[in-house]
Amino acid sequence: MNEPWWERPVCILCDYGLVILALMVVLGVGLWRLSMPEPLGPPVLPTVSPTLVSTLPTLSTPVVEEPTQTSVASTNPAPTITPTAQKPEFILVFIPVRWQSSMSKFREEARKQADLFITESQMDLYFEIKVAILDEGLSRADLSNSDLELDVEEYGIINFPGDRYIGITDGDLVLNGNSTIAGWTTFNGAGIIAESGSIVITAHELGHTFGLCDEYSYPIWLEQDAFSPNGCPNPYPASCPKDQDEFVHCNGEPTTDGRNSIMGPAGMPGEYGYNDSCKDHLLKKFLLLSGQGLE
Ligand SMILES: [Zn+2]
Repeated sequence: MNEPWWERPVCILCDYGLVILALMVVLGVGLWRLSMPEPLGPPVLPTVSPTLVSTLPTLSTPVVEEPTQTSVASTNPAPTITPTAQKPEFILVFIPVRWQSSMSKFREEARKQADLFITESQMDLYFEIKVAILDEGLSRADLSNSDLELDVEEYGIINFPGDRYIGITDGDLVLNGNSTIAGWTTFNGAGIIAESGSIVITAHELGHTFGLCDEYSYPIWLEQDAFSPNGCPNPYPASCPKDQDEFVHCNGEPTTDGRNSIMGPAGMPGEYGYNDSCKDHLLKKFLLLSGQGLE
């Protein structure tokens, strides 16, 4: 029985061949069953664990930050003026009033009137200005209703709350029988009604909402001067006649570079701007309103 070691397994297989074969069959069947897929039942859809969602980045965690003026000027001493990123919002809402032409024309008109005001007032130095142009407005308004600016304001408050509501019409406004009028507002109010066609009208009426007075007629200027708690911030031009009727007798005080005064009459040839006294007042007002004038 001294067979070499490599013959022993063969010998065991010979001696117990049937038993081993049976065991191997049982083992093989078992392994085969284990390797088989599970019987098909109802499909199990993959689910997302709620905890997994909460680990994803959310919008409240900004990934990209806009560069601010402070980060650009980091080598300079800390500025005393509030950084641009902290400017409060100021929303101008444009509302079509009996608008007959296309809405693209309305948007174009509103944009032009808003741009003149923003550029000339420099309000964007103190506020983050948003311009909202509505597609619907007062389609059946009476253009001779002297309270139309209040209707515009009310419509805006209900439909798109903002800081100023500017109704623009491509029809003809008539105030107290006067059809040469191109727009009106309430002193220090929020509602405006303006005609299209002259880009200066919104800037003129917005000037009134910040306390500026008319420069085209002395009696009108006097009336507004008496109404203003501290008098008119912009004087009636010294070179203009002081006629006592309410027709246009003065073109207003021009800007230092010779442009027409926004607080003068509309419809003059050439460009418009706020003159020095108007600009000074507006900037003081913007400082105060934006909270940057507080020390
Ligand atoms: Zn006016």
